[in-house]
Parts: sequence; C-alpha cells; structure tokens
Amino acid sequence: MEITKKNKFVEFFKNYWMYVAVGVVVIVVAITVGLLAGRGSVPTTSPSLEFSLPMSEASIVKDFSSTELQENTTLNQWEAHLSVDFTSDNADVFAVLDGTVTDVSYDILNGYKVEITHDGGFVSTYSSLAEEPVVQEGDSVASGEKIGSISSTATFESDLGDHLHFTLYLNEEPVDPNNYLDLQNK
Ligand SMILES: [Zn+2]
Repeated sequence: MEITKKNKFVEFFKNYWMYVAVGVVVIVVAITVGLLAGRGSVPTTSPSLEFSLPMSEASIVKDFSSTELQENTTLNQWEAHLSVDFTSDNADVFAVLDGTVTDVSYDILNGYKVEITHDGGFVSTYSSLAEEPVVQEGDSVASGEKIGSISSTATFESDLGDHLHFTLYLNEEPVDPNNYLDLQNK
C-alpha cells in the first residue's frame, strides 16, 4: 500500500514535474511582486513639502542672517535678522505651504501678523501686513493662497517702507528660508 502510494507519487512527479516547477516559480514571483508593491505603498519618509513664494516678482530688501549682524536703520542698531524682508509692486502676500492659520495679531513692532502652522514641524509668520489680513484664525489655507497685503505697519522696520517680514520656523527655531524656498530664482 505504502509502496503503491509512493510509486504513484513518483509517477505523477515524473509526468508533471514541469508543471510543478512552473507553479513554484509563479508563486515565488507573485510573492516577490506583492512584497515589493506593498513596500512601495508604505511611506518610509515624510512626503516632500512643496514651498511656494510668499510674494510674486519680489525683491529681497533684507536677507536672513543669523551670524552677521545687519544694521536696523529704524532702531539704529545692529542685529541678527532671522527673517527675510520682501517688497514687490504686487502687494499680495501668499501662504508658502498648505496649513492652518493659528494666529492673526497686531502689535506696534510687528504690525499686522499672520501665523500659519504646516506639516513637518514648520510654522511661517508674515509681519508688516496691511490692516485686516484676509484670513482668520482657524482658516485652512493652500500653498500660494493670498493671506494679506504688505504695508509699513511693522514700526521696527518702518525705514523699509511697505514690505513683508517673513519668518520660517522649524520645530520652533527660526531657519533660513533660503534653504527651503527658491528665493534667489524668483
Ligand atoms: Zn525684517
């Protein structure tokens, strides 16, 4: 009985080994493809963030500097400038990244100011805006969406005239926007 069974199996294998081999190859390929496809669909890094510019056709009137002090001609003092100041004939100011407006405020130094919180630990602030920015706290904004217009409400830089004082934070530390936005190629 045992021998017969074994013989039958051997007979079967002799006749159909080709099909068995092909079947095994198909299964291995299917599993490999499945694993690769599965791995591809699971993000291993955070999605890349596409920054846009806060103003169109803008020029930088004061660049970011954390180590070299720059003269503040309004306050008549030398200071680090952890922001970038822009001016443009087009006064519109745009969100640099999708996000949520987390603060709209006014104080005599910064003027009207909008704060937007983004994914990835980024926060952007826009100071020296004209009265009544077009967004409110809690609003969702898209990258490139208008949030306000420039003015000279930031009295600590009133010498610069109408401009945007733009600051980018990563994990609550100011970072050089030049490292994230294509500022020199506008
Ligand atoms: Zn500034």
